[in-house]
Amino acid sequence: MTQSVVVLGGGIIGLSCAFEAARRGMKVTLVEPGGLGGQASGAAAGMLAPYSENPEQPDDFFKLCLYSLNRYPEWIEAVEELSGISAEWVRSGSINVFLHEADLLPVDSRIRWQNQWGAEAELLDAAQLRKLEPSLTHEAAAGLYTPGESHVYAPKLVTALIAACTRLGVTLLEQAGEIREVKVHADGGAAVKAAGLDRPVLGDRLVVCAGAWTGAYERWFGLSLPIHPIRGQICSFDHSQAEVRHMVFSSQAYWVGKKNGSLVCGASEDVAGFQTSVTERGIGRLLRSSEKLLPFLKGKEPLHRWAGLRPATRDGLPLLGQAEDTGTVIMAAGHYRNGILLSPATAAVVADLLEEKPADIRLDRFAPDRFTTAGLRR
Ligand SMILES: Cc1cc2nc3c(=O)[nH]c(=O)nc-3n(C[C@H](O)[C@H](O)[C@H](O)COP(=O)(O)OP(=O)(O)OC[C@H]3O[C@@H](n4cnc5c(N)ncnc54)[C@H](O)[C@@H]3O)c2cc1C
Repeated sequence: MTQSVVVLGGGIIGLSCAFEAARRGMKVTLVEPGGLGGQASGAAAGMLAPYSENPEQPDDFFKLCLYSLNRYPEWIEAVEELSGISAEWVRSGSINVFLHEADLLPVDSRIRWQNQWGAEAELLDAAQLRKLEPSLTHEAAAGLYTPGESHVYAPKLVTALIAACTRLGVTLLEQAGEIREVKVHADGGAAVKAAGLDRPVLGDRLVVCAGAWTGAYERWFGLSLPIHPIRGQICSFDHSQAEVRHMVFSSQAYWVGKKNGSLVCGASEDVAGFQTSVTERGIGRLLRSSEKLLPFLKGKEPLHRWAGLRPATRDGLPLLGQAEDTGTVIMAAGHYRNGILLSPATAAVVADLLEEKPADIRLDRFAPDRFTTAGLRR
């Protein structure tokens, strides 16, 4: 069995993998070039919404999302207990709002298959919708209520994971600087050199969780890793005046009322390289959607505006599993819009692979070498 693990990347995915491996008894070192949780994971809205995020069909990705949601109660309890920090998990349920009758056409088949997978979803008419969520526009035609969806406060979950990892004895090498070299030995074992560390970090196995920066590992592993940053711009309002009880989704945006009295509204999707600035255009679109769906927000300026980089692969699915040709490397990256939701499932899959146990869930669609042509292989 694996004795020592080096996790590369200190976002939610790296911290979750480190936490799970450590609680299963492995010696874990995590290397983060910058600040822990300082990228996409600290920027996320924290929604745990497998049904709203997968309206089309119960494919392997939906099943991975649902598997992860089902792990959340035990996961949060373990992280909060060890860290003593609340991740502000709110079991709010969600409402997908439809402004026009025509938007309802695909909803019947969605309810049918999602209820077979535990959604307990219910279609609400305009009057029922207003009763459940009084702040919504009276122009809404109907809504789909899904009670099992929930949210956490992502920056708090990151803080709690850092504290829990520390309690478990994980070595957290933050501000380690650029990763300069990775050597993977054919007979097992790996060494990682970073600009800010005096000596290489050694381990039996490597777990790569570098989010939107994962493409940097192509040169060391001989794999094609097409992961690109998709910028998400997001903002928050003060919502102490009007309550928004559920997570609300429209075709243009979503709104999540946090325990700290802020109402988070996200998120744009654009391609801007590795820039995490916000633009008038990106935030302006969110403001217009907010006024339309939640009239009490008309004319309100957001309290905060920020952006993060979602790690997106070419087919939108994560790279999750053993990188076959390297033997010692496990990839856990490319979680795109769902990395907070997928963190417990990813951690469980990675820890099972480290323990050489079969994963509980099918991983074929997420194979890390699926983009690699024969010519590129070592
Ligand atoms: C605006 C926005 C809203 C979102 N809302 C939600 C949501 O509601 N629910 C949800 O589930 N998901 C959401 N997401 C998606 C979610 O944030 C991501 O899928 C998730 O944070 C990815 O986690 P990660 O650890 O892979 O990446 P990151 O958090 O980006 O972490 C990657 C880390 O790798 C480090 N790194 C950089 N270069 C290297 C290198 N060479 N080697 C090692 N490490 C390196 C970086 O410094 C960084 O700390 C949202 C994303 C955005 C941007």
